[in-house]
Amino acid sequence: MRFVDLIEKKVDGGSLSTEEIKFWIDGYVGGTIPDYQVSAMLMAIVFRSMDEREILDLTMSMAHSGDMMDLSGISGVKVDKHSTGGVGDKTTLVVGPMVAACGAKLAKMSGRGLGFTGGTIDKLESIDGFHVSISRDEFIRQVNDIGIAVVGQSGNLVPADKKLYALRDVTATVRSIPLISSSIMSKKLAAGSDVIVLDVKYGRGAFMKTKEQASELARTMIKIGTGAGRKVRAVISCMDAPLGHAIGNALEVGEACMALSGRGPGDLMQLCLTLGSLILEEAGICRTREDAVRMLCEAVDSGRALGKLAEMVSAQGGNAAQIRDSSLLPKAEFKTVIKSPADGFICDEDAMALGNLAMQIGAGRAKKEDAIMNEVGIVLSAKPGDKVTKGQPLAVVHHRMALPQGWMEECVGSFVISDKCADTEPLIAEVI
Ligand code: URA
Repeated sequence: MRFVDLIEKKVDGGSLSTEEIKFWIDGYVGGTIPDYQVSAMLMAIVFRSMDEREILDLTMSMAHSGDMMDLSGISGVKVDKHSTGGVGDKTTLVVGPMVAACGAKLAKMSGRGLGFTGGTIDKLESIDGFHVSISRDEFIRQVNDIGIAVVGQSGNLVPADKKLYALRDVTATVRSIPLISSSIMSKKLAAGSDVIVLDVKYGRGAFMKTKEQASELARTMIKIGTGAGRKVRAVISCMDAPLGHAIGNALEVGEACMALSGRGPGDLMQLCLTLGSLILEEAGICRTREDAVRMLCEAVDSGRALGKLAEMVSAQGGNAAQIRDSSLLPKAEFKTVIKSPADGFICDEDAMALGNLAMQIGAGRAKKEDAIMNEVGIVLSAKPGDKVTKGQPLAVVHHRMALPQGWMEECVGSFVISDKCADTEPLIAEVI
């Protein structure tokens, strides 16, 4: 088989066979097919797309390109959740402990943040002593014992995705539904859970700009997951404005603790209860989503959900006192209030702009190798739809160093304040 012939077939709109896709992925990971040929194939896929069978074959070849986690040592139904990424998205820190407190087994591998989006691993590492690399045996033991572990991705999980994603990033081939769905689902399948609940975001602060694209991506991922024998559900949620109030690692852990104590912002709670109820329903712990929501609320009200996060933190070497009392989390040296320039209603808060601003002051990284500052970020004082008066706080910036020139003006500019607003998009567009 010659790879150039496969590129030509895709350029002509043909469908690659199972063997041809395996030849591609094995050859690329093994080093016999060079980057320049794979770039051409990726670009052909961007324009010609792939059919359902090709997408499933690509996902399976990628998933099997490295280690496949064997979670059979964990008793019960293993569950996982995945968000396509956003600003202020701390849902794993809330949903994970809530569902674990209801008896689900969450065995989760998470990623780090890049660009304007945050990553769960960075957030957890803002807790003193917390470590995200534990052995496979410890991982299994922890999930069996307390029902939850959140760790970094193991070194040899889906090496095909690591190579392909790096290449897509520099060849303008990220935005293709077959390529995004196979990239995400290969990692989810290799991570081994029986139930996968996806939070597919759309809007200004998301990969997918429209609801329709997000829905197509979600449906494609559900087909892949069910084709591979897993139970998969998805929520389509809006990421025009940040989720909750806090953006930044320790600040988001603090907000997650508030949510687990029943004092979280409404939008965060709504999304977490939706995701959590789908997990409990698919895991067979509750018969209906209404029952599941009741069970999740009871776990929060009784303190068991917050206790579960503290147990996980403690099991992974972290200081659980910072979970029980979030005022002990790392604090920024400086706080600066961003004030409203006018009276009116907040019609818009630009998630992408605010994510980028938080990154510029050290809450995120522009390049993979950049260091981050745990304690810095932005806490929104008002949310879309809120009425504000001139001079009232819009946000509080937590920072370590002087704010860059022009930063404050840009921050004010990310809020749209007007006498009258069009209706804001509902947070949850669809549950699939
Ligand atoms: N996230 C992934 O893991 N892969 C993509 O291709 C896009 C987002």
